[in-house]
Amino acid sequence: MLTYQTWTQPTCPFEVDETYKGALNVLEWAYEHYGEDILYACSFGIEGIVLIDLISKVKPSAKIIFLDTDVHFKETYETIESVRKSYPDLTIILKKAALTLEEQAEAHGDKLWENNPNQCCDIRKLRPLKEALAEGHAWISGLRREQSETRRNVNFINRDEKFESIKICPLIHWSWKEIWRYVHKHQLPYNPLHDEGYPSIGCVHCTAPAFDRNDFRSGRWKGKGKTECGLH
Ligand code: SF4
Repeated sequence: MLTYQTWTQPTCPFEVDETYKGALNVLEWAYEHYGEDILYACSFGIEGIVLIDLISKVKPSAKIIFLDTDVHFKETYETIESVRKSYPDLTIILKKAALTLEEQAEAHGDKLWENNPNQCCDIRKLRPLKEALAEGHAWISGLRREQSETRRNVNFINRDEKFESIKICPLIHWSWKEIWRYVHKHQLPYNPLHDEGYPSIGCVHCTAPAFDRNDFRSGRWKGKGKTECGLH
């Protein structure tokens, strides 16, 4: 089995077909290779909706975790419930941070997302994911190369130094248009905030509508000089 410890750069065995851009081939390989030892960390943004639909074709009972920071939009929680109804066999787990918001404020001060967003992301996202990944060998992410400069070099299969895991990214070749075409064609449920100028949706305090049409993530941590929560 390919793990963080046994990593050797795999020669890419996946054909990038016209319909799925290789995503289904990658998912079939991933679930066959890792069995129960793989989870999908889903933010329930639009890429996540496509991935869930594709995953359900390959592994209807797949394990999906959502990093529940306690400060997501109500629309995001509603989207999760719609997805649960559409895919009843999936196991969707809301993974919370060890600290409640009150405990975090007591230990590190009020509004940590304003004063130290890196520490806030560490407590509410990175540590919970690390805990979840300790149980398996690999995880799936919805990264696309088109999303940002920092994601241009992502591959289908990646050695993940941060989490000492293998990170599988089936959607790397999908464009924004292709994602939406798929969602509309299959009439998938999605977060209505996407229709209000939010291409990328994270926590309430750190997400605004995108101000740069050419930068999908320009509404995230606006004015804070931060572009990633640290998961990637
Ligand atoms: S995105 Fe903002 S609120 Fe969410 S965990 Fe990171 S800093 Fe905290």
